[in-house]
Amino acid sequence: MNPSLPQNDSDRAARQAALEEARRTYRYDYEAYPPLALAAEVPPQDEPPPGWKLRASEKMVALGINSAKVDDAEGVTAAHHAAMAALITAERSGGMKAALNELNRLIKEGESSGRPAGLESYRELFQEIELPAVAGTYREDATFAEERVSGANPMWIRRVDAMPEHFPVTEAHFQAALDFQGALGEGDSLEAARQEGRLYLADYAVLAEAEGGTYPDGQKYVTPSMALFAVPPAGAADRRLKPVAIQSGQTPSAETPVLTPRDGDAWLIAKTRVQTADGNVHQAISHLGHTHMVVEPFVLATHRQLAPTHPLHVLLSPHFEGTLSINESANTTLLAPKGGVDMVMAGTIGYSREVAASAASSWRFDAARFPTDLATRGVDDPDALPHYPYRDDGRLIWDAIHAWVDAYVRLYYPSDAEVVADTELQAWAAEVISPEGGRIKGFGQEGRLQTRDYLIDALTHLLYTGSAQHAAVNFPQFTSMSFVPNWPLASYTPLGGGSSAQDYLDLLPPMDAAHMQMSLGYLLGTLYYSELGNYPHHDVFFEYFSDRRVHAPAKQFRETLDGVEAVIHGRNATRPVVYPHLLPSKIPQSINI
Ligand code: MN
Repeated sequence: MNPSLPQNDSDRAARQAALEEARRTYRYDYEAYPPLALAAEVPPQDEPPPGWKLRASEKMVALGINSAKVDDAEGVTAAHHAAMAALITAERSGGMKAALNELNRLIKEGESSGRPAGLESYRELFQEIELPAVAGTYREDATFAEERVSGANPMWIRRVDAMPEHFPVTEAHFQAALDFQGALGEGDSLEAARQEGRLYLADYAVLAEAEGGTYPDGQKYVTPSMALFAVPPAGAADRRLKPVAIQSGQTPSAETPVLTPRDGDAWLIAKTRVQTADGNVHQAISHLGHTHMVVEPFVLATHRQLAPTHPLHVLLSPHFEGTLSINESANTTLLAPKGGVDMVMAGTIGYSREVAASAASSWRFDAARFPTDLATRGVDDPDALPHYPYRDDGRLIWDAIHAWVDAYVRLYYPSDAEVVADTELQAWAAEVISPEGGRIKGFGQEGRLQTRDYLIDALTHLLYTGSAQHAAVNFPQFTSMSFVPNWPLASYTPLGGGSSAQDYLDLLPPMDAAHMQMSLGYLLGTLYYSELGNYPHHDVFFEYFSDRRVHAPAKQFRETLDGVEAVIHGRNATRPVVYPHLLPSKIPQSINI
């Protein structure tokens, strides 16, 4: 039977019965993670599919062997098999939650603990698992700047027209950075860069009230750093973003001087503190808060208000696969006291949870749209900021999703009047924003849905968030974050310490926290399940869309994505660092890890 809108369906009773059943199955809960609207329980049909579980088991094999080798590098022993078997058994019997608990136990009972003997200790955490390429370049200023445009959190820089008064970067600082790097361009100045709109700021003021945790091994810190970058002037040979200055706090002081690339290990420490700040913002806000937790209310509202035969229920379902389940694992295991987040992040677990909850509950659907966010941050113009892989690849994906959703929606809604007359769709929109429903802000047209154009844009945004945006912030957990010195998620010394090579080493995490960060980075950052646009991914002989009219636009979507894949490969061939995270083949359909 083809999907239909409620106003065109002769069997209203069947739709009603299906919706009543769904409302008993999918219920909101506001207590598990206040004030977020999450599922009261994960229904069996939302548990991970077998294909996902198989991938998870593969990761457990690698992690089990890797942890055992970290403890004892003398070949594969019975201990390796025991570690691997324990992880797989836990995953098979109790799912991801049990596996994460087992991983926790393995790392805590393992040999790696205490301070690193040297930087090589962090490399030695990679035994069975391949060391990411960033381990070879992480100390370079070019890598530090590259992380802002293609790293784990590539949506934090914004263009500034004036320097904030509390970050007193002077012409002398700018000249020091320019002399050091050369590439900023002959005769350039801070004032010229300001006037020409070439200054970009990464500001971590949101962390100003951070409470540093102490688990597992000593007091942890994170600074509300500020980092200034500049784009070399038009005509320069290399117009990639260059770091200019860092202040490791919101106000200048003896402990938080403005530093430049000429400041040696003090600069390296300041850069590392920026990475830590960015990592804490990334995990709590950009990743958990702005993807995982804001998609879940849409999953619930879709089941509860759009009948299974509603065309938009059919369109959205594959993009929600696994989301309730992974979020429940995250909330109850990773984010539990003494869990993985408590172990690796800088804040107390209460603080980390609160930042993520605050990010998700203040998230606005309208402001978070990918094109709107780029414009708001002043980073949407390729002439002004030529090198921005996250923006450039993301635009290709956004446009591909938009064209697909546009074709799909117009098949079922011949005019705006059909949108207005769709009682299920109107109830869906009302529930998404309701305080007794999904609690999403900035959604809808005066509380309703009134035009096809708005609906198409909103669905594009929802699909993009659950696929491309999540991929962009999820998979760098391995490529950028698993090599701990590149992106330590907590600092272990306060501001005001020395600036020797030993002081730099003292800043970095102890080995048990590092082992956990590396293991979680690998598990969460390499488990790929399903591919954007590949709707019948569970069976090549099964066409997901029963409505034959959908087959041509669905095929077109896949072909467009194949073209995008080729374009991005072409771009990567000339980029200084390959950006793989928005290749369509590396974007899962849904948030499932
Ligand atoms: Mn994720």
